[in-house]
Amino acid sequence: MIKAVLFDLDDTLLDINLTAFLGRYILGLSGILGLIDRTPAPMLQPALLQAYLAIDSQKRKDDLTNYDLFCACFYRRTGIPLSDPLISQTISCFERTVLPSYGKGIVQAAPRRGMPQAVEKVHELGLVCALASNPVFSLDVDRMRMRWADVSERDFEAITTINNSRRCKPSAVYYQDFITKLGFEPRECLMVGNDATRDFPRPDIGMHTLYVGHARPRRAFWRGKPERLAADLPLIIDAVNEQSR
Ligand SMILES: [Mg+2]
Repeated sequence: MIKAVLFDLDDTLLDINLTAFLGRYILGLSGILGLIDRTPAPMLQPALLQAYLAIDSQKRKDDLTNYDLFCACFYRRTGIPLSDPLISQTISCFERTVLPSYGKGIVQAAPRRGMPQAVEKVHELGLVCALASNPVFSLDVDRMRMRWADVSERDFEAITTINNSRRCKPSAVYYQDFITKLGFEPRECLMVGNDATRDFPRPDIGMHTLYVGHARPRRAFWRGKPERLAADLPLIIDAVNEQSR
């Protein structure tokens, strides 16, 4: 029986030029860190990128949170301790006050058509709704993108962030950890996503994915336009439940 629906955020609930957003974020963050450390920002950007690649690696064997590994990698390259309270508070201030202006222009952040209704439908159906955004950002950055997507933190029982996750998508460890935290089994959950790789747990853990992207992934239980999802969701859930009986 399906009991929960997990949503991806970027390009699923939120229309966004993610490459442009990441570029701006790294530019802004390296600028702040450069001021603190009196280092030219461009010299810090490769270290930030390398820390992101480290937490994103699917070959990881460590048991660290993504945040702890990110900080350790960045510290090794630069000697800057990101978790130092003064530095982390400055980053948090940057994320809460400067980042909101990054949604305009080339980033083009906007709600994805039909998706706030799909979230609403999950609530109407009495199912648990959770946000399984690739955990490379803090909760503040997730909150801001939720606002751009016209959904609220209150819509979600739980949200994955860089601080509470120890792998990135599509790692089965990431998905299994989150589903366990929610108190369910993978077969009791549906994942809604736009990414033919990241939104399908690897290896397969028995959770179905509903696909709202532009490819034709064979593993998708359902694929279609996001505008269709809210209306189709009761039928999809009936079909999954029927199949598992
Ligand atoms: Mg996505």
